[in-house]
Amino acid sequence: MNLSYWEYKTWLSNIDFTVVGSGIVGLNCALYLKKQFPEAKILVLERGLLPQGASTKNAGFACFGSVSEILSDLRKHTEKEVLQLVKKRWEGVQLLRKNLGDEQIDYQNHGGNEVFLKDQEGLYEDCLDNLDRVNSLLKPVFKADAFQTLPNSFGFKGIQENYISSPFEGQINTGKMMKTLLDKVQNSGVTILNSIRVENFVENIDHVMIKTDHFEFRTNKLFIATNGFASQLIREKVKPARAQVLITKPIHNLNIKGTFHLDEGYYYFGNIEDRILFGGGRNLDFKGEETSTFGETTLVQNSLENILRTVILPNTPFEIDLRWSGIMGMGKQKKPIVKHLGNNVYCGVRMGGMGIAIGSLIGKELANLAK
Ligand SMILES: Cc1cc2nc3c(=O)[nH]c(=O)nc-3n(C[C@H](O)[C@H](O)[C@H](O)COP(=O)(O)OP(=O)(O)OC[C@H]3O[C@@H](n4cnc5c(N)ncnc54)[C@H](O)[C@@H]3O)c2cc1C
Repeated sequence: MNLSYWEYKTWLSNIDFTVVGSGIVGLNCALYLKKQFPEAKILVLERGLLPQGASTKNAGFACFGSVSEILSDLRKHTEKEVLQLVKKRWEGVQLLRKNLGDEQIDYQNHGGNEVFLKDQEGLYEDCLDNLDRVNSLLKPVFKADAFQTLPNSFGFKGIQENYISSPFEGQINTGKMMKTLLDKVQNSGVTILNSIRVENFVENIDHVMIKTDHFEFRTNKLFIATNGFASQLIREKVKPARAQVLITKPIHNLNIKGTFHLDEGYYYFGNIEDRILFGGGRNLDFKGEETSTFGETTLVQNSLENILRTVILPNTPFEIDLRWSGIMGMGKQKKPIVKHLGNNVYCGVRMGGMGIAIGSLIGKELANLAK
């Protein structure tokens, strides 16, 4: 179908900035661009009917890393780098709250807990032994101990005596957060077009030509925020990583509140009102889950159900309501890639499992590249 003169003229002419991807990073980028350049004509292109990557699929933990994750990071990164990672996540969450408001994103602070299985004695002891070290490393960020031990007050079965918990971890309603963000971006005067897939682009001296599955047009500058799908458009080291999730039906008198990390963060669960959301299990089939195709597998879903039944809700009957998956963008390095790809092309990708925490900040950094 040919677009009309009016359609080109109104929606696709004189575009200053085009953002590809309407996840948390792309939307924040568009918002900050509008703040910096109020007169600019800004377009966001999203291939899904709704955002279709990770930002509307995730667990909604406003987290900064569990003890075992931080210790694992310390084996691959310097103390300074790890401190920077944690600081960014913490500051990112504060920015998200400030930008959208706690009520709008339903921010709740019930704390986060790392739970260790009975057969993970070694890992548990190692985390306990290093608690003081991690707490003093993170003191500049939290001004208090980030972690403490707490007894198993929620009655999980087959786990070590204590959780290692943080009072600083919170949780949000991901759906409300993204709806609020989308509304804010649209109200600021940015146009979002859904069901448009960017197929490729060509950079010229003073503009970029963009080809989509429906039309071609030119923009002055292009911002790529496609995270797990980045390698389909650009040559950066980002691998897709699928994450599968399930949620129970409402459970009468559910007493579990907060966010929980299990098995070095490969599993995570928390309450969403009176339901349990439970995700993870990518480590059961790393190769198979290194995909940008959405879907659920029997292997992972059975494992989730089994742990839910035997560890998390051993004495509580439950039914599964929904199962879904999301696609993350991973790499060997935990640091996101925020950089110029040319004079007029920029990217902000590779958010790992922390995009809710850092997405607002990375979107802002991406927009700032255009200054
Ligand atoms: C199950 C799950 C649980 C998670 N839990 C947490 C958590 O508790 N806390 C946390 O901080 N993080 C969590 N994450 C990670 C977090 O959700 C992501 O890091 C974050 O959402 C990434 O945001 P983004 O904007 O970079 O990417 P995305 O949200 O993936 O956005 C990229 C967008 O680009 C679009 N797109 C891709 N290619 C094209 C194209 N060619 N043309 C047009 N559009 C395109 C996609 O449709 C998508 O909407 C989780 C992720 C998953 C999947």
